[in-house]
Amino acid sequence: MSQKKINKRILITGASGYIGSCLNNFFNKDSLIYCLDKKHPNTWTKINKKKFYICDLLNKKKLTKVIKNIMPDVVIHFAATSTVNEKIPYSKYYQNNVVATKNLIEVMNELKIKKIIYSSTAAVYDRKVRRIIEKDKLNPISKYGKSKLKAEEIIKRNKKIKHIILRFFNVSSSIPKPLIGEYHNPETHLIPIAVSNAIQNRAINLFGNDYETKDGTCIRDYIHIKDICLAIKKSIMYLEKKTLKSLILNIGNGKGISNKEIVFSLKKILKKTINIRFLKRRKGDQAFLVCDIKKAKKFIKWIPVNSTTSKILKDEINWTKFLEKRFIKRKIMHVQK
Ligand code: UDP
Repeated sequence: MSQKKINKRILITGASGYIGSCLNNFFNKDSLIYCLDKKHPNTWTKINKKKFYICDLLNKKKLTKVIKNIMPDVVIHFAATSTVNEKIPYSKYYQNNVVATKNLIEVMNELKIKKIIYSSTAAVYDRKVRRIIEKDKLNPISKYGKSKLKAEEIIKRNKKIKHIILRFFNVSSSIPKPLIGEYHNPETHLIPIAVSNAIQNRAINLFGNDYETKDGTCIRDYIHIKDICLAIKKSIMYLEKKTLKSLILNIGNGKGISNKEIVFSLKKILKKTINIRFLKRRKGDQAFLVCDIKKAKKFIKWIPVNSTTSKILKDEINWTKFLEKRFIKRKIMHVQK
Protein backbone atom coordinates (compact mmCIF):
# COMPACT_ATOMS: atom_id res chain seq x y z
CA MET A 1 0.00 0.00 0.00
CA SER A 2 2.71 2.47 1.01
CA GLN A 3 6.09 2.12 -0.70
CA LYS A 4 8.26 4.89 0.74
CA LYS A 5 8.97 4.79 4.47
CA ILE A 6 8.54 7.87 6.61
CA ASN A 7 11.06 7.90 9.41
CA LYS A 8 9.26 10.44 11.52
CA ARG A 9 7.75 10.64 14.94
CA ILE A 10 4.08 11.23 14.36
CA LEU A 11 1.37 12.05 16.88
CA ILE A 12 -2.27 11.40 15.97
CA THR A 13 -4.89 13.20 18.07
CA GLY A 14 -8.33 11.60 17.96
CA ALA A 15 -6.67 8.25 17.32
CA SER A 16 -9.65 6.24 18.60
CA GLY A 17 -11.94 7.67 15.94
CA TYR A 18 -12.65 6.28 12.47
CA ILE A 19 -10.00 8.10 10.43
CA GLY A 20 -7.44 8.20 13.27
CA SER A 21 -7.52 4.47 13.91
CA CYS A 22 -7.35 3.63 10.19
CA LEU A 23 -4.39 5.98 9.76
CA ASN A 24 -2.56 4.51 12.74
CA ASN A 25 -2.71 1.06 11.17
CA PHE A 26 -1.87 2.33 7.72
CA PHE A 27 1.37 3.84 9.05
CA ASN A 28 2.10 1.17 11.61
CA LYS A 29 5.43 -0.25 10.45
CA ASP A 30 6.30 2.84 8.48
CA SER A 31 7.12 5.29 11.23
CA LEU A 32 6.96 5.94 14.94
CA ILE A 33 3.30 6.57 15.59
CA TYR A 34 1.94 7.83 18.89
CA CYS A 35 -1.74 8.06 19.60
CA LEU A 36 -3.81 10.30 21.80
CA ASP A 37 -7.54 10.34 22.48
CA LYS A 38 -9.89 11.08 25.35
CA LYS A 39 -11.64 7.76 24.66
CA HIS A 40 -10.25 4.24 24.59
CA PRO A 41 -10.05 2.72 21.11
CA ASN A 42 -12.40 -0.02 19.91
CA THR A 43 -10.98 -3.55 20.19
CA TRP A 44 -10.82 -4.09 16.41
CA THR A 45 -8.32 -1.23 15.98
CA LYS A 46 -5.54 -3.42 17.47
CA ILE A 47 -3.84 -0.30 18.72
CA ASN A 48 -0.44 -0.59 20.42
CA LYS A 49 -1.35 0.31 24.01
CA LYS A 50 2.25 1.28 24.81
CA LYS A 51 2.03 4.15 22.37
CA PHE A 52 -1.48 5.24 23.28
CA TYR A 53 -2.23 8.09 25.68
CA ILE A 54 -5.61 8.90 27.17
CA CYS A 55 -5.79 12.69 27.18
CA ASP A 56 -8.44 15.33 26.61
CA LEU A 57 -7.10 18.28 24.62
CA LEU A 58 -9.03 20.52 26.99
CA ASN A 59 -6.70 19.45 29.79
CA LYS A 60 -3.74 21.61 28.76
CA LYS A 61 -1.51 20.58 31.64
CA LYS A 62 -1.80 16.89 30.83
CA LEU A 63 -1.56 17.61 27.09
CA THR A 64 1.75 19.44 27.62
CA LYS A 65 3.10 16.53 29.65
CA VAL A 66 2.08 13.93 27.06
CA ILE A 67 3.41 15.85 24.06
CA LYS A 68 6.65 16.68 25.87
CA ASN A 69 7.12 12.99 26.43
CA ILE A 70 6.56 12.17 22.74
CA MET A 71 8.15 15.21 21.06
CA PRO A 72 6.68 14.42 17.61
CA ASP A 73 8.01 15.86 14.34
CA VAL A 74 4.45 16.19 13.03
CA VAL A 75 1.04 16.32 14.68
CA ILE A 76 -1.97 15.01 12.76
CA HIS A 77 -4.98 16.57 14.41
CA PHE A 78 -8.25 14.65 14.09
CA ALA A 79 -9.68 15.00 17.60
CA ALA A 80 -13.08 16.68 17.27
CA THR A 81 -16.79 16.44 17.81
CA SER A 82 -17.50 15.39 14.24
CA THR A 83 -21.16 14.40 14.31
CA VAL A 84 -23.22 16.89 12.32
CA ASN A 85 -26.28 17.32 14.49
CA GLU A 86 -27.87 20.69 15.04
CA LYS A 87 -29.35 19.42 18.32
CA ILE A 88 -25.85 19.34 19.83
CA PRO A 89 -25.22 22.68 21.61
CA TYR A 90 -22.65 24.95 19.94
CA SER A 91 -20.71 25.09 23.23
CA LYS A 92 -19.78 21.41 22.77
CA TYR A 93 -18.44 22.01 19.25
CA TYR A 94 -16.68 25.15 20.48
CA GLN A 95 -14.91 23.39 23.34
CA ASN A 96 -13.92 20.21 21.49
CA ASN A 97 -13.11 21.75 18.10
CA VAL A 98 -12.00 25.33 18.76
CA VAL A 99 -10.62 25.49 22.33
CA ALA A 100 -9.00 22.05 21.94
CA THR A 101 -7.21 23.19 18.75
CA LYS A 102 -6.11 26.41 20.45
CA ASN A 103 -4.63 24.40 23.33
CA LEU A 104 -2.85 22.06 20.95
CA ILE A 105 -1.31 24.94 18.97
CA GLU A 106 -0.18 26.68 22.18
CA VAL A 107 1.45 23.50 23.48
CA MET A 108 3.14 22.90 20.10
CA ASN A 109 4.49 26.46 20.23
CA GLU A 110 5.80 26.05 23.75
CA LEU A 111 7.58 22.84 22.77
CA LYS A 112 8.72 24.18 19.36
CA ILE A 113 6.93 21.51 17.35
CA LYS A 114 6.65 22.97 13.90
CA LYS A 115 4.34 20.91 11.70
CA ILE A 116 0.64 20.14 11.78
CA ILE A 117 -1.81 18.40 9.47
CA TYR A 118 -5.38 19.35 10.31
CA SER A 119 -8.44 17.36 9.39
CA SER A 120 -11.02 19.88 8.21
CA THR A 121 -14.20 19.46 6.22
CA ALA A 122 -16.24 20.29 3.15
CA ALA A 123 -18.75 21.76 5.61
CA VAL A 124 -16.75 25.03 5.80
CA TYR A 125 -17.80 26.06 2.27
CA ASP A 126 -20.73 28.12 1.06
CA ARG A 127 -23.40 26.42 -1.08
CA LYS A 128 -22.21 25.63 -4.61
CA VAL A 129 -23.57 24.20 -7.84
CA ARG A 130 -20.18 23.47 -9.35
CA ARG A 131 -17.01 21.75 -8.14
CA ILE A 132 -15.58 23.57 -5.14
CA ILE A 133 -12.07 25.03 -5.26
CA GLU A 134 -10.12 26.00 -2.17
CA LYS A 135 -10.46 29.74 -2.90
CA ASP A 136 -14.27 29.55 -2.93
CA LYS A 137 -16.32 31.47 -0.43
CA LEU A 138 -16.44 30.02 3.08
CA ASN A 139 -19.76 30.17 4.84
CA PRO A 140 -20.52 27.13 6.97
CA ILE A 141 -24.17 26.57 7.78
CA SER A 142 -23.87 23.88 10.45
CA LYS A 143 -22.52 24.43 13.95
CA TYR A 144 -19.98 21.73 13.15
CA GLY A 145 -18.77 23.56 10.01
CA LYS A 146 -18.57 26.86 11.90
CA SER A 147 -16.40 25.38 14.66
CA LYS A 148 -14.08 23.64 12.15
CA LEU A 149 -13.59 26.93 10.29
CA LYS A 150 -12.73 28.71 13.56
CA ALA A 151 -10.12 26.01 14.26
CA GLU A 152 -8.69 26.48 10.74
CA GLU A 153 -8.32 30.21 11.50
CA ILE A 154 -6.42 29.49 14.73
CA ILE A 155 -4.01 27.24 12.82
CA LYS A 156 -3.58 29.76 9.97
CA ARG A 157 -2.93 32.67 12.35
CA ASN A 158 0.04 30.91 13.88
CA LYS A 159 3.06 31.66 11.73
CA LYS A 160 5.58 29.50 13.61
CA ILE A 161 3.88 26.21 12.74
CA LYS A 162 3.64 25.03 9.12
CA HIS A 163 0.25 23.58 8.36
CA ILE A 164 -1.56 21.52 5.81
CA ILE A 165 -5.30 21.82 6.23
CA LEU A 166 -7.08 18.98 4.49
CA ARG A 167 -10.75 19.59 3.76
CA PHE A 168 -12.19 16.11 3.54
CA PHE A 169 -15.33 15.41 1.56
CA ASN A 170 -17.39 12.23 2.22
CA VAL A 171 -14.89 9.84 3.78
CA SER A 172 -16.11 6.25 3.65
CA SER A 173 -15.35 2.51 3.64
CA SER A 174 -12.72 0.39 5.39
CA ILE A 175 -9.09 -0.75 5.35
CA PRO A 176 -8.02 -4.43 5.57
CA LYS A 177 -5.53 -6.24 7.87
CA PRO A 178 -6.71 -5.47 10.47
CA LEU A 179 -10.12 -4.69 9.10
CA ILE A 180 -11.16 -1.26 10.42
CA GLY A 181 -14.07 0.85 9.26
CA GLU A 182 -16.57 3.50 10.13
CA TYR A 183 -18.37 3.07 13.44
CA HIS A 184 -20.29 6.05 14.74
CA ASN A 185 -22.85 5.99 17.47
CA PRO A 186 -25.41 6.92 16.27
CA GLU A 187 -24.61 6.43 12.57
CA THR A 188 -26.01 9.13 10.29
CA HIS A 189 -23.98 8.64 7.10
CA LEU A 190 -25.53 7.25 3.94
CA ILE A 191 -22.97 4.58 2.99
CA PRO A 192 -22.81 2.61 6.27
CA ILE A 193 -26.58 2.96 6.76
CA ALA A 194 -27.40 1.89 3.19
CA VAL A 195 -25.07 -1.12 3.37
CA SER A 196 -26.38 -2.27 6.78
CA ASN A 197 -29.99 -1.92 5.65
CA ALA A 198 -29.41 -3.61 2.32
CA ILE A 199 -27.69 -6.61 3.96
CA GLN A 200 -30.56 -6.93 6.43
CA ASN A 201 -33.19 -6.57 3.69
CA ARG A 202 -34.50 -3.29 5.07
CA ALA A 203 -35.55 -0.37 2.90
CA ILE A 204 -33.16 2.55 2.53
CA ASN A 205 -34.49 5.97 3.49
CA LEU A 206 -33.37 8.71 1.13
CA PHE A 207 -33.85 12.28 2.20
CA GLY A 208 -35.47 14.17 -0.69
CA ASN A 209 -36.06 13.37 -4.36
CA ASP A 210 -36.97 16.87 -5.47
CA TYR A 211 -33.51 18.45 -5.70
CA GLU A 212 -32.39 20.11 -8.92
CA THR A 213 -30.05 17.27 -9.82
CA LYS A 214 -30.15 14.69 -12.61
CA ASP A 215 -32.28 12.22 -10.60
CA GLY A 216 -33.67 14.52 -7.91
CA THR A 217 -31.44 13.17 -5.11
CA CYS A 218 -28.40 14.87 -3.55
CA ILE A 219 -24.94 14.46 -5.06
CA ARG A 220 -21.85 13.85 -2.93
CA ASP A 221 -18.14 13.23 -3.39
CA TYR A 222 -17.20 9.92 -1.72
CA ILE A 223 -13.56 9.26 -0.95
CA HIS A 224 -12.19 5.90 0.21
CA ILE A 225 -10.46 5.92 3.60
CA LYS A 226 -7.35 4.38 1.98
CA ASP A 227 -7.06 7.42 -0.27
CA ILE A 228 -7.37 9.64 2.81
CA CYS A 229 -4.43 7.76 4.41
CA LEU A 230 -2.41 8.16 1.21
CA ALA A 231 -3.17 11.91 1.10
CA ILE A 232 -1.92 12.27 4.67
CA LYS A 233 1.25 10.35 3.85
CA LYS A 234 1.87 12.63 0.87
CA SER A 235 1.20 15.66 3.10
CA ILE A 236 3.86 14.51 5.57
CA MET A 237 6.31 14.05 2.71
CA TYR A 238 5.51 17.56 1.49
CA LEU A 239 6.10 19.01 4.96
CA GLU A 240 9.59 17.48 4.95
CA LYS A 241 10.67 19.77 2.12
CA LYS A 242 12.71 22.77 3.19
CA THR A 243 11.02 25.27 0.87
CA LEU A 244 7.58 24.31 1.93
CA LYS A 245 4.59 26.60 2.14
CA SER A 246 1.55 25.99 4.28
CA LEU A 247 -1.38 24.64 2.28
CA ILE A 248 -5.15 24.20 2.28
CA LEU A 249 -6.32 21.31 0.12
CA ASN A 250 -9.59 19.68 -0.86
CA ILE A 251 -9.42 15.93 -0.47
CA GLY A 252 -12.18 14.12 -2.30
CA ASN A 253 -12.70 11.96 -5.35
CA GLY A 254 -13.57 14.94 -7.56
CA LYS A 255 -16.61 13.06 -8.90
CA GLY A 256 -20.23 13.39 -7.87
CA ILE A 257 -22.44 10.36 -7.09
CA SER A 258 -26.15 10.72 -6.32
CA ASN A 259 -27.89 9.04 -3.40
CA LYS A 260 -29.95 6.98 -5.86
CA GLU A 261 -26.79 5.88 -7.69
CA ILE A 262 -25.38 4.57 -4.40
CA VAL A 263 -28.45 2.38 -3.95
CA PHE A 264 -28.35 1.19 -7.58
CA SER A 265 -24.67 0.20 -7.26
CA LEU A 266 -25.45 -1.68 -4.06
CA LYS A 267 -28.25 -3.56 -5.83
CA LYS A 268 -25.80 -4.59 -8.54
CA ILE A 269 -23.08 -5.72 -6.11
CA LEU A 270 -25.39 -7.57 -3.71
CA LYS A 271 -27.56 -8.86 -6.58
CA LYS A 272 -30.78 -8.25 -4.69
CA THR A 273 -33.82 -6.02 -4.68
CA ILE A 274 -33.47 -3.04 -2.37
CA ASN A 275 -36.44 -0.82 -1.65
CA ILE A 276 -36.01 2.92 -1.44
CA ARG A 277 -38.27 5.00 0.77
CA PHE A 278 -38.18 8.69 -0.04
CA LEU A 279 -38.53 11.00 2.94
CA LYS A 280 -38.63 14.79 2.97
CA ARG A 281 -35.37 16.73 2.61
CA ARG A 282 -32.95 16.68 5.54
CA LYS A 283 -32.44 20.13 7.05
CA GLY A 284 -29.16 21.77 6.03
CA ASP A 285 -28.40 19.39 3.14
CA GLN A 286 -26.89 20.84 -0.01
CA ALA A 287 -27.99 19.45 -3.39
CA PHE A 288 -24.45 19.22 -4.76
CA LEU A 289 -21.19 18.93 -2.83
CA VAL A 290 -18.26 17.90 -4.99
CA CYS A 291 -14.69 19.18 -4.99
CA ASP A 292 -11.98 20.04 -7.43
CA ILE A 293 -8.77 18.21 -6.50
CA LYS A 294 -6.31 19.84 -8.91
CA LYS A 295 -4.51 21.65 -6.09
CA ALA A 296 -3.82 18.45 -4.14
CA LYS A 297 -2.61 16.78 -7.36
CA LYS A 298 -0.26 19.69 -8.02
CA PHE A 299 1.22 20.25 -4.57
CA ILE A 300 1.31 16.92 -2.81
CA LYS A 301 1.19 14.74 -5.97
CA TRP A 302 -1.82 12.82 -4.72
CA ILE A 303 -4.67 11.32 -6.68
CA PRO A 304 -7.41 8.99 -5.43
CA VAL A 305 -6.85 5.42 -6.62
CA ASN A 306 -9.31 3.50 -4.42
CA SER A 307 -12.44 5.59 -4.70
CA THR A 308 -14.65 3.97 -7.33
CA THR A 309 -18.20 3.56 -6.00
CA SER A 310 -17.90 -0.20 -6.39
CA LYS A 311 -14.65 -0.47 -4.33
CA ILE A 312 -16.05 1.83 -1.63
CA LEU A 313 -19.21 -0.26 -1.36
CA LYS A 314 -17.46 -3.67 -1.51
CA ASP A 315 -15.03 -2.69 1.28
CA GLU A 316 -17.94 -1.30 3.31
CA ILE A 317 -19.85 -4.58 2.82
CA ASN A 318 -16.85 -6.54 4.21
CA TRP A 319 -16.70 -4.27 7.21
CA THR A 320 -20.46 -4.42 7.86
CA LYS A 321 -20.35 -8.22 7.71
CA PHE A 322 -17.46 -8.20 10.20
CA LEU A 323 -19.55 -6.12 12.64
CA GLU A 324 -22.57 -8.38 12.15
CA LYS A 325 -20.57 -11.56 12.76
CA ARG A 326 -19.52 -10.12 16.11
CA PHE A 327 -23.07 -8.95 16.92
CA ILE A 328 -21.85 -5.35 17.02
CA LYS A 329 -24.93 -3.30 16.29
CA ARG A 330 -24.92 -0.03 14.43
CA LYS A 331 -27.27 2.44 16.03
CA ILE A 332 -28.75 3.87 12.88
CA MET A 333 -30.32 7.29 13.02
CA HIS A 334 -33.30 6.97 10.70
CA VAL A 335 -34.68 10.31 11.70
CA GLN A 336 -33.46 13.64 10.38
CA LYS A 337 -30.27 15.16 11.77
N1 UDP B 1 -28.78 10.42 3.38
C1 UDP B 1 -29.95 9.72 3.13
N2 UDP B 1 -30.32 8.77 4.03
C2 UDP B 1 -29.62 8.49 5.15
C3 UDP B 1 -28.42 9.21 5.39
C4 UDP B 1 -28.02 10.16 4.49
O1 UDP B 1 -30.62 9.96 2.13
O2 UDP B 1 -30.04 7.61 5.93
C5 UDP B 1 -28.33 11.42 2.40
C6 UDP B 1 -28.14 12.82 2.95
O3 UDP B 1 -29.36 13.50 3.00
C7 UDP B 1 -27.17 13.39 1.91
C8 UDP B 1 -26.31 12.18 1.51
O4 UDP B 1 -27.08 11.03 1.88
O5 UDP B 1 -27.87 13.83 0.78
C9 UDP B 1 -24.97 12.11 2.22
O6 UDP B 1 -25.20 12.28 3.61
P1 UDP B 1 -24.13 11.88 4.72
O7 UDP B 1 -24.78 12.11 6.05
O8 UDP B 1 -23.59 10.54 4.44
O9 UDP B 1 -22.96 12.91 4.50
P2 UDP B 1 -22.96 14.53 4.45
O10 UDP B 1 -22.78 14.87 3.02
O11 UDP B 1 -24.24 15.02 5.04
O12 UDP B 1 -21.78 14.88 5.27
